[in-house]
Amino acid sequence: MTTLTPVLTRYWDDPQSWTIDTYRRHDGYQALRKALRMEPDQVIQTVKDAGLRGRGGAGFPTGMKWSFIPQGPGPDGTVKPHYLVVNADESEPGTCKDIPLMLATPHALIEGVIIAAYAIRAATAFIYVRGEVVPVLRRLQAAVAQAYEAGYLGRDILGSGFDLELIVHAGAGAYICGEETALLDSLEGRRGQPRLRPPFPAVAGLYACPTVVNNVESIASVPPIILNGTGWFRSMGSEKSPGFTLYSLSGHVARPGQYEAPLGITLRELLGYAGGVRAGHRVKFWTPGGSSTPLFTEEHLDVPLDYEGVMGAGSMLGTKALQIFDETTCVVRAVLRWTEFYAHESCGKCTPCREGTYWLVQLLRRVEEGRGTESDLDKLLDISDSINGKSFCALGDGAASPILSSLKHFREEYIDHLRSGGCPFDPARSTAWA
Ligand code: NAD
Ligand code: SF4
Repeated sequence: MTTLTPVLTRYWDDPQSWTIDTYRRHDGYQALRKALRMEPDQVIQTVKDAGLRGRGGAGFPTGMKWSFIPQGPGPDGTVKPHYLVVNADESEPGTCKDIPLMLATPHALIEGVIIAAYAIRAATAFIYVRGEVVPVLRRLQAAVAQAYEAGYLGRDILGSGFDLELIVHAGAGAYICGEETALLDSLEGRRGQPRLRPPFPAVAGLYACPTVVNNVESIASVPPIILNGTGWFRSMGSEKSPGFTLYSLSGHVARPGQYEAPLGITLRELLGYAGGVRAGHRVKFWTPGGSSTPLFTEEHLDVPLDYEGVMGAGSMLGTKALQIFDETTCVVRAVLRWTEFYAHESCGKCTPCREGTYWLVQLLRRVEEGRGTESDLDKLLDISDSINGKSFCALGDGAASPILSSLKHFREEYIDHLRSGGCPFDPARSTAWA
């Protein structure tokens, strides 16, 4: 049985966990002191050696991303400023780890920001947070003010000669602004829409300058790595997916919440800690990493939840948002809800996603209400196929994922809707119950 490894969450139940004093009592800002005694490149090398992978969904190696920042003058002979941008625009359905982290321990994120900015030689950093989550915004702003007052931010941090300004920026609540290049456009004051990549932000990001964009959990994982070393980090997880991470369990679970565990733990083990599926019920389907990752079923309870394990089983680890649905849930209705979300949030820049998500909603609604025909299922597959891998950004792929995977695992349930003239889970609407 894999044991839980509370690192970031270890004192979340302290009612004062968010204050700078509590943070300092738990070794807070000690990693910063250590990092400032190292050369910036040594800090990058440490994060590379630890094997930390981005916790925002894609799992790209964090140290490698930092090392892409060009040093010295560019081809035109000028030296451009570097920026660090924290993507705190958490909004993937089911994902609920960064917001609790920022509420419980904002200084863990701030310390990570200072270390990362020092490593990539950035003098300005931004935390781009969802503006409508006002308590998080207020807590971050208060913590940043405390960090300035304590000399962790501003000029000559802890007498090291390193200067850093940290700005908390409130986004306006568009899902697409979680896509890193749309986020940068939004930060620059424009309508947030994805940019063509390459160039990646590491080469041309904010104001066309070298920029690292990292997720909240990735950055907050840096101080414990600096403090405890790469061997400690690598003692958890697997060779290619080392370390601990936050798994968010939601849905039909006895004790939903954030569970911090080594990468590679299984859902069966996590359910053991979370009190299992609600009494008297069993898992029907679940998402390993938010709604944009292909659905898993009861058959996948023993898949190791690391990047390779989940991919090998046909899905993606994504944000590690484990949404659990028991046998009372209509998969067609769940997929319709997610698809409505993607259609609403589609930024409209590319045709496959803008038009495709609209038509997917129309078809799914018809099937869910039992008004369609079996040929609608083929149309759903066709349209999903025209979106998947052919859209401008990952939102399109994400929209197609639940449809393709649910049709693979639960095609019969779609057909039941057509045969019953409505949702077989809803006695009020299905003629099968008459
Ligand atoms: P990606 O794999 O294209 O890129 C991941 C990161 O690596 C980016 O920062 C990118 O700039 C960098 N990168 C990749 N190749 C590079 C290269 N050759 N040179 C320099 N940098 C490089 O993934 P993505 O499109 O940025 O993100 C998709 C993921 O986002 C999905 O897996 C999904 O799980 C996740 N997601 C998360 C949320 C959330 O709320 N956290 C919301 C939606 C989607
Ligand atoms: Fe916009 Fe969707 Fe195209 Fe992404 S895939 S650029 S969200 S229309």
